[in-house]
Amino acid sequence: MTFAELGLSSKLLEAIETAGYTEPTPIQAGAIPPALAGKDVLGIAQTGTGKTASFTLPLIERLSRGRAKARMPRSLIIAPTRELAAQVAENFETYSKGQKLSMALLIGGVAFKPQEEILNKGADVLIATPGRLLDHFERGKLLMSGVQFLVVDEADRMLDMGFIPDLERIFKMVPPRRQVLFFSATMPKEIQSLVDRFLNDPERVEVARPATTSANIQQYLVKLGSNVAKDKRAALRAAMNRDGVKNGIIFANRKRDVDIVARSLQRHGFSASPIHGDLDQSSRMQTLADFKSGELRFLVASDVAARGLDIPNVSHVFNYDVPHHADDYVHRIGRTGRAGNTGESVTISTPADSKSLAAVLKLIQQDVPELALDGLETSPASDEDKPKSRRSSSRSKSRGEKSEKSETPAKAEAPAKIEAVKTEAKPVEPRAETPAPRKSADNSESSSRAPRKDKSRGRRSDPQDRPVVGFGDHVPDFMS
Ligand code: AMP
Repeated sequence: MTFAELGLSSKLLEAIETAGYTEPTPIQAGAIPPALAGKDVLGIAQTGTGKTASFTLPLIERLSRGRAKARMPRSLIIAPTRELAAQVAENFETYSKGQKLSMALLIGGVAFKPQEEILNKGADVLIATPGRLLDHFERGKLLMSGVQFLVVDEADRMLDMGFIPDLERIFKMVPPRRQVLFFSATMPKEIQSLVDRFLNDPERVEVARPATTSANIQQYLVKLGSNVAKDKRAALRAAMNRDGVKNGIIFANRKRDVDIVARSLQRHGFSASPIHGDLDQSSRMQTLADFKSGELRFLVASDVAARGLDIPNVSHVFNYDVPHHADDYVHRIGRTGRAGNTGESVTISTPADSKSLAAVLKLIQQDVPELALDGLETSPASDEDKPKSRRSSSRSKSRGEKSEKSETPAKAEAPAKIEAVKTEAKPVEPRAETPAPRKSADNSESSSRAPRKDKSRGRRSDPQDRPVVGFGDHVPDFMS
């Protein structure tokens, strides 16, 4: 199958050639023809499959006829996070070169005024996060009656982030005769219900989860005998200092740990910066740009901030802890080994992670070999190793801080030995979708009805994962 066979115009074929793509990916081959034919499409695919082009290319093709009117966008692309929206916008710019299509990116964390100016001139496509789109609509700066195409990207992530009511509103705001291109990596019942209500006899295109391509990713586990954060950071540094580590993304489950780990790494001389939903938009964008350009070697990230980010050439993914949701493990390690490259992931697991680790291994249906780390010393098992302590640390900030501080008295006893046991990795099978709606996420955008806190300072709080305050530039010893 070639791109030309999909029915795209010569201008788009040129742009595709310039992008260096030789043949369509399965989601592109499946979604582009029905989208060009004007059908609704339900694409079940996730980042890394080429899904962005599978909706941007037909959208550009369809938009290339006709012009935008002031405040009346002709198409709408809704994405869950600012980064993802910005990435879609980048894709749109790449593929629409020479097409004279105008685009407005409506994301939170940046000023309204410039966005309004673009809207006033008329935009062919609006790429927006749900909250900011509704904000503009409520300010009377937008008329939805001209929307002919609606794209929803990463719908399941919107569910995780509590955006479904916003999404329903958006569906009701656009004219009933519109074409919908709807993408989701998984199909929980809430998403299926949206599809049933708002899509018109969609063409369903499903592609294998990236887990099936993880043959490109050499996965490793570092099993620690203690839950002590200092030991985890020492293990992380040892893993990062290995040969062959060019750059990488370090994932942590909690935003506070993202900050702590990033600072600790900086203190140890690593080029590392944090990215999570509590940081203001401009610093997130800058961090991402620095990482993409190679100026920054390591990105320390939360799951939501990193979800969907297309960052090529990442040699390594480090899991500072095992994700609570096994799905996230697949997303995380999928940041490496992309586009035919090989990659490596190293997951640090402590006794407190045992349940999460079991869920991950069940999901990926393969053994992950353990990795030997030279000269790593860990603290002896202590009260902190008990799951009870971990539970309490995640429940309240003050307790969490206490648990960090309790690292200090760690006694220097015989180091725990970490053995290397290399086992054969079996290929990963696609799995049945079993997503569970999540109660909270460190989302970059809050729902229009969700409380918006700390707006003036550009930081949002999450009741389940509050940012740590009071460190300033000073890094206490326990963070070393
Ligand atoms: P996405 O799943 O949309 O985030 O895309 C993942 C990566 O695949 C991006 O870096 C795209 O530029 C790239 N990509 C998209 N389509 C193709 C293609 N047909 N051939 C090769 N790479 C592609």
